[in-house]
Amino acid sequence: MTSLSPPDPALESKGNILVVDDTLANLRLLESLLTGQGYKVRKVLSGPMALTAVQTAAPDLILLDINMPQMSGYQVCERLKADPTTQGIPVIFISALDDTFNKVKAFAVGGVDYIPKPFQFEEVLARVENQLNIRRMQQKLQELNAQLEQRVEQRTAQLQLANHALQREIEERKRIQEQLLHRVLHDSLTDLPNRTQLMKRLEDNLSRAKQNREYEFAVLFIDCDRFKVINDSLGHSAGDQLLIAVARRMQDCLQGSLGLLARLGGDEFVMLLEHIRDVEQAKQYAEQIHQQLQKPFTLAQQDVFLNASVGIVLGEGYEQAEHLLRDADTAMYQAKSSGKGRYQVFESVMYTQAINRLQLETDLRHALERQEFFLVYQPLVQLMSGEMVGFEALIRWEHPQQGRLSPAKFIPAAEETGLIVPIGEWVLRAACQQLHRWQQHYPRSRPLTMNVNLSARQFAQAELMGRIDQILQETGVISSHLKVEITESTMMDNAESATTTLSQLRARQIELCIDDFGTGYSSLSYLHRFPVQTLKIDRSFVSQVGVNAENIGIVRAIIALADNLGIQVVAEGIETAAQLSQLKVLGCQYGQGYFFSPPLDQEAAERIIGLGSDWRLQPQVS
Ligand code: C2E
Ligand code: MG
Ligand code: MG
Repeated sequence: MTSLSPPDPALESKGNILVVDDTLANLRLLESLLTGQGYKVRKVLSGPMALTAVQTAAPDLILLDINMPQMSGYQVCERLKADPTTQGIPVIFISALDDTFNKVKAFAVGGVDYIPKPFQFEEVLARVENQLNIRRMQQKLQELNAQLEQRVEQRTAQLQLANHALQREIEERKRIQEQLLHRVLHDSLTDLPNRTQLMKRLEDNLSRAKQNREYEFAVLFIDCDRFKVINDSLGHSAGDQLLIAVARRMQDCLQGSLGLLARLGGDEFVMLLEHIRDVEQAKQYAEQIHQQLQKPFTLAQQDVFLNASVGIVLGEGYEQAEHLLRDADTAMYQAKSSGKGRYQVFESVMYTQAINRLQLETDLRHALERQEFFLVYQPLVQLMSGEMVGFEALIRWEHPQQGRLSPAKFIPAAEETGLIVPIGEWVLRAACQQLHRWQQHYPRSRPLTMNVNLSARQFAQAELMGRIDQILQETGVISSHLKVEITESTMMDNAESATTTLSQLRARQIELCIDDFGTGYSSLSYLHRFPVQTLKIDRSFVSQVGVNAENIGIVRAIIALADNLGIQVVAEGIETAAQLSQLKVLGCQYGQGYFFSPPLDQEAAERIIGLGSDWRLQPQVS
């Protein structure tokens, strides 16, 4: 027997070992050997006892004798290996049967090692330690495996979560992308296709038409009439509702047809008609749109009427979608200026007109700084006495190429471009300067007055009053000597701001004249509401006086109405003595017209003022 080194305290309780042997001496020997080395040892004398001991507390290792009565070591081992709770415990067989057959059998039943008797202590210890190490490593390995499995499970779960999140993200992105694409191609208010989508479709149609000469399509440019007035009076959200309703009705016109309805922005829409026969069919669509819009819209519990002007262009002979739209727009513009609620088919001469108009607008922008405007003055006469009471200032434009232009030629363009605001201010200032000079040079017992026309755009201007005050102060004109003329539609289209502006005018004793009275708004109720001092009966009625009895009736009614309301009346465009005498009979107080004098330049006007300005003595001035 070899001497063994004392047990290392650090190795204490190195493992629990069950020793099974039917020879007590062997048991004792092994026990003392193993406990001496720091192992905990239990010992049993038979196979059945061994099985019970293992069930009670599983050892880390079993040293098992083969030859035992009752139950052989092989049988014990087989039983242990058959039970999942014990099969992991390493079994080292101990036996004197030292031949190959037994060793093989020992491994076959599940043993891990084999120690022959008589024992070599060091061998026993080495084999025991070896097996325990293997067992520990196996356990460690199992633990690691379990941990690894757990980690794999956790990672898998995390990955699955991440995967789901990713999937959701992908779906969300797809949805956003679709939304974006929709937004890029649609108008946000009406959800109709927008300009981008329209242009693409127009281009598709142009290339189809190029490939197939038979193919026809048309573009309808649709612009709502007076939409701004509704928007301004009922508010923008009502305006939006109206646009949505208008879009829906127009869309109905397209039902069952090929094409699309797009909104370009504001109150402008475009209807593209694909596969049409001819221009007649396009016109039918325009008529249908007008029919659809004829029924009133109910907005804020109010019936609102709206119409639209439509420009039509056929797709033939065009290369660019832009040009198609441009010409449809030009035709629409033409339709609008020939009266609202109409349609117009594009003709190439309109293009020239549009170019001319553009040129006019450009020239107009320079006209003020180049001092091309000047004023003429038409006398206003008190009909009974023949006394000249004042002038109406009327603008003229000395165009560098086209010569003298009347306001009808350029005021609409000035109005549309907004240039009327600075131009109107210039008129007001020039007229007041002139009036003041005349009042200084030709003092009269009844001071001369000056009428100035205000356009709709000017009238709607918030700074109007400030400008008037400034000009009156600059020029030294007394406010009650200035009169402003606006048309009925100007007043009604700006009904909201009109109330304030009119009371501000009244506060300054600036008289308000309704110009071209009788041609515009059909309701007279506003005459009660607004502080109007003068009605100017439109020339179209005056020119019929003495010719048409019905028109005398109208003029008589206007004069009677004005009389009742304490409003003065001026007859515009008196051209003949017969008209003058009739108007006098009807009780009309004032007049102006070629019978007295056409609008005059400064010197000519001064001659008349100098002459005493009196038509009692000289009924006609040449
Ligand atoms: P209105 O204010 O009604 O001016 C009267 C127009 O009738 C003037 O035309 C005048 O020349 C014309 N007229 C006067 N008497 C007779 C007549 O007996 N027979 C005929 N056939 N015509 C007569 P005008 O100067 O061409 O002005 C046309 C319109 O342009 C004006 O109509 C006015 O609405 C506008 N306008 C003129 N000057 C200005 C201005 O400074 N500012 C603005 N906003 N509009 C202006
Ligand atoms: Mg006028
Ligand atoms: Mg007039």
